[in-house]
Amino acid sequence: MKKDDLSHSRKVATICDLLTGNYGETVVKSRRPAMDVLVQGILSQNTNDINMGRAFDNLKTMYRTWEDVLAAPEEELGEAIRSSGFYRLKAQRIKATLSEIQNRVGRLDLRLLKRMDTDEAMDWLTSLHGIGPKTAAIVLLFHFRRPIIPVDTHVWRVAKRVGLVPNNFTREKTQVTLQSIVPQPCMLSMNHNLVMHGREVCKARNPRCEVCFLRSHCDYYETLH
Ligand code: SF4
Repeated sequence: MKKDDLSHSRKVATICDLLTGNYGETVVKSRRPAMDVLVQGILSQNTNDINMGRAFDNLKTMYRTWEDVLAAPEEELGEAIRSSGFYRLKAQRIKATLSEIQNRVGRLDLRLLKRMDTDEAMDWLTSLHGIGPKTAAIVLLFHFRRPIIPVDTHVWRVAKRVGLVPNNFTREKTQVTLQSIVPQPCMLSMNHNLVMHGREVCKARNPRCEVCFLRSHCDYYETLH
């Protein structure tokens, strides 16, 4: 390992420890079904967890199975998930995704991903209509427990500011890089804690650097002083 790589690995490990020390270790008690996680991923696009959760609960109350959701009229489905915002588009996406899974797999089930390696599973999921790298990574991390970090707007911003990845990296490149540099036992916590840090401290417009426990390791902070 080169000297620069070694010091970057140390920095990643330190940031991981500091985030865990402040926000705690993320423990997922139960594994949600993969289809649930996938649909939640679609519902979570451009909204917060509360609105996504409301829409998802409503969907599960109105329809017993994913086959029922697939058979539902698009307008009715849109009403069911209205609280998630962009509900017409999301209803269209959910139906298109379910229909594609049904056609490819023969049933609404994602167990075939178990037999694929992470890159293959990622390619399979992102080739579905309306499924981007973030939603695919959510399914792979939270259901299949694969070593991958979904990159939402908070993870992307904090990772660049702190210097985990270069400032010009796209979300896709950030995801691939984090996947290769974050120690595996820390992946789940790192994802959750970077989101927490982005929401509470390293805000988009006004990062609260003066109270930030990462500042002595942060590239952005260093440029200010
Ligand atoms: S020091 Fe500032 S820019 Fe760096 S992580 Fe903390 S809040 Fe964000």
